[in-house]
Amino acid sequence: MTYVYDDTNIFAMILRGDIPNSTVTETDYSLAFRDINPQSPVHILLIPKGKYVTIDDFAANAGLEEVADFWRTFAAIIDGEGLQQKGFRVISNAGEHGLQEVPHFHLHILGGKALGPILAQ
Ligand code: AMP
Repeated sequence: MTYVYDDTNIFAMILRGDIPNSTVTETDYSLAFRDINPQSPVHILLIPKGKYVTIDDFAANAGLEEVADFWRTFAAIIDGEGLQQKGFRVISNAGEHGLQEVPHFHLHILGGKALGPILAQ
């Protein structure tokens, strides 16, 4: 499977520093920032800095250092936001059926309230 990355997507602009973001944490390989349209009290987007379109692109093609950094950063966010005790939800939309708006792989990390059923319909 080949993945075609669009350099004009809004997260690429954030990574280039062309538009601001509300950074939660940043490493050499990963960036986490607050969603501009939060769906819960905690709504953080975690992205790799590398050019991966979807979660499966990242899983298949990212280097091991990137993968390790990404998941350690994820764990640090859960800890830093105090989400372990009450729990949280992670979503990654991919492609057309997943209704992915921004074609740069990201995890939505949602928490801070009871989130309800996983799907609305
Ligand atoms: P998705 O549909 O999974 O691609 O979700 C994209 C997410 O990016 C949405 O939740 C948007 O609210 C969020 N978003 C779009 N632009 C920005 C931005 N400039 N800063 C932070 N979050 C953004």
